[in-house]
Amino acid sequence: MLRHRDRSAGREPCMRPLGRWCALAFLATVIPSLLLHPLRPPTLAAQTLAGQSLGDQDSDETELWNRFNGERAFEDLVRFCEMGPRPSGSAGMEAQRRWLVEHFEACGLEVFEQKFDHDHAAYDEPVRMVNLMARYRPELEERILFAAHYDTRPFPDQDPTDPRGEFLGANDGASGVAVLTEIARLLRDSEIPLGVDLVLFDGEELIIDRRRDPLFVGSTYFARTYADAPDRGWFYRCGILLDMVGDARLELYYEKNSLRFAPELVRDVWRSADALRIREFLPRPRHEIRDDHLPLNEIAEVPTIDILDFDYPRIGGREAYWHTREDTPDKCSAASLEKVGRVVLHWLSRQR
Ligand SMILES: [Zn+2]
Repeated sequence: MLRHRDRSAGREPCMRPLGRWCALAFLATVIPSLLLHPLRPPTLAAQTLAGQSLGDQDSDETELWNRFNGERAFEDLVRFCEMGPRPSGSAGMEAQRRWLVEHFEACGLEVFEQKFDHDHAAYDEPVRMVNLMARYRPELEERILFAAHYDTRPFPDQDPTDPRGEFLGANDGASGVAVLTEIARLLRDSEIPLGVDLVLFDGEELIIDRRRDPLFVGSTYFARTYADAPDRGWFYRCGILLDMVGDARLELYYEKNSLRFAPELVRDVWRSADALRIREFLPRPRHEIRDDHLPLNEIAEVPTIDILDFDYPRIGGREAYWHTREDTPDKCSAASLEKVGRVVLHWLSRQR
């Protein structure tokens, strides 16, 4: 994801040998035993939901959106971060993908892996990319797309002290995925009359050199494949992309490209937030963001919005955790994930 005016600004990370990632990819194939062991329990306790704005009258669990459990989603976020950095082609990404496939199948969803090789200027070998798709009621023709990217940036290149350090991507990477893994738990017992696809994009930001490397590799491939198969037998009515939705200081404004492509959808989702009295959804535009929703709109022609909190951690603050080593689970919260998940599910429950 990139803010519009950042397109050519800022320092560029220098080139480095990519042997490290090749080695990590290799390790992923030789130490599958790692994946047979249960994951370590979260080292960071999920934050409680005490003091959140959702009142007692909103806790009726017969409603789908009230069943979204932010603490369970936050445990997923921590779990992904404990797998380490998860850039495309890395061991962390492979471990995450295996967990996700198993999870989605256990939730009764039909899982597809859309694999392709991507030639990247910084890598000797093509990078294997995998978009993951988990489908609720795959037999239905008319479908809703919920998406997030699940790769993380290779380096925290905005970090003021160590731009070649470790980047965990708790908010920028894990948060959108964690909302979708929790939604996956709830779909099977829902009565949603439409098909729903949870799609995780690879290669959103495999950026070693910002002036050279393309963004949105996975979503662009996904959108082209969709556009090139008009006889696929199903279609998306619209889409919602989730990116950077875990910030403990949640502030979600209308995103300007979303307003351009799908203004009614933007307002309708924010109406759900209003109905739930979730005030972190602020019904006015703020940032213009380039993200995976662009290929979905421009290539696949699926009206798609981006729910994204670019103010990480706060408006007007000097510090920003975006693309730094500080993008860690302690900056995120269960309450934020729960608010986003409930709004999305409230909106979904209104679709006919
Ligand atoms: Zn990013």
